[in-house]
Amino acid sequence: MNRWLLTPLQSANPIEQAASLAIRVTDLYDTLRTVLPSGCALHREEPLAKRTTLRVGGPADLLIEPDSENSLRVAVELCGQLEVPWCVIGRGSNLVVRDGGVRGVVFILSHPFFCRIESQPGRIYAGAGARLKAIAVAARQAGIGGMEFLEGIPGSLGGALRMNAGAMGRWTFDAVERLRYLSADGEILDVEGGSVQADYRSCPLLRSGVALAAILRGELSDPETVRGKMDAYSKKRWASQPSQPSAGCTFKNPTATLPAGRLIDELGLKSLSVGGARVSDVHANFLVNDGSATARDVLRLMELVRDHVRELRGIDLHPEVEIIGEDLP
Ligand SMILES: Cc1cc2nc3c(=O)[nH]c(=O)nc-3n(C[C@H](O)[C@H](O)[C@H](O)COP(=O)(O)OP(=O)(O)OC[C@H]3O[C@@H](n4cnc5c(N)ncnc54)[C@H](O)[C@@H]3O)c2cc1C
Repeated sequence: MNRWLLTPLQSANPIEQAASLAIRVTDLYDTLRTVLPSGCALHREEPLAKRTTLRVGGPADLLIEPDSENSLRVAVELCGQLEVPWCVIGRGSNLVVRDGGVRGVVFILSHPFFCRIESQPGRIYAGAGARLKAIAVAARQAGIGGMEFLEGIPGSLGGALRMNAGAMGRWTFDAVERLRYLSADGEILDVEGGSVQADYRSCPLLRSGVALAAILRGELSDPETVRGKMDAYSKKRWASQPSQPSAGCTFKNPTATLPAGRLIDELGLKSLSVGGARVSDVHANFLVNDGSATARDVLRLMELVRDHVRELRGIDLHPEVEIIGEDLP
């Protein structure tokens, strides 16, 4: 699978390469329209800004919402055959899409097939497209504790698995009993959660693989106790986070005891801005969009913040957000 990679093409001329890729994307689109079931949505030149929480970025050449695991697998295989680069995104809540958009294919697992949530005693089965909030609510209704921390993370399960998203002292992989994914070789595999390497905001396996679903394990509890915990977490979150469009925390914490937000705040960088992008004055690790920001504004602001922190504290901040796509020419 050539996810994320721009395949080396015959010509070294960037204009010819772009033209050749455009032809292959059109071929891919025409072929997929005949081989995929009508339940799959295919969008040409789909704006991605509206599919992210930060609300910046250009279009995807082709955005595909497959209706089943098999449709996804077929489409990925065809991307490989036609040498069209591809990637998968979730609810776009950890993404900065560059202003020139994404060449090739973007998959989103938003079809109801991928958003199913089922509960059993102590366990939740969820598809990768399921919203984390919906999973937390389903767990509460089923009297399952331990998933309350997912309540305020505005992503999908697939994004949370890839990022090993965490809050309130818990990480996504703490709760994963089994993971189902499409491997880099195009195989659909089920593995035990405990066997998957999961680090701070990263699951290396899912850099090349696509999360399809997971079984999450919690402990039996009663719905009111779970509700109380969720309400407390929600209150805490809303008191400490901005409500404007953002991609959540921009940088990883340099160490477990040194949050990036505190570091940026201590350097007096709150309210620093570039164009329509600004360091939030509520939480300094959030860069917010005042409604007019471009991805270029956001990326320049990120650079400014990094430069200040490097110069004044000698610390290199690393992005927590995933940056995809191309700049405008
Ligand atoms: C207001 C706000 C608060 C937030 N709070 C938190 C928080 O408390 N804790 C936290 O950890 N994060 C937080 N985030 C960040 C974000 O919500 C999480 O990282 C979330 O898990 C991302 O999920 P997503 O579906 O939006 O993924 P996206 O942002 O769409 O994608 C993120 C990454 O996951 C990959 N990906 C998406 N789906 C799949 C899949 N099915 N298989 C493989 N890879 C996939 C993408 O390629 C990309 O690399 C916050 C964001 C916002 C805007």
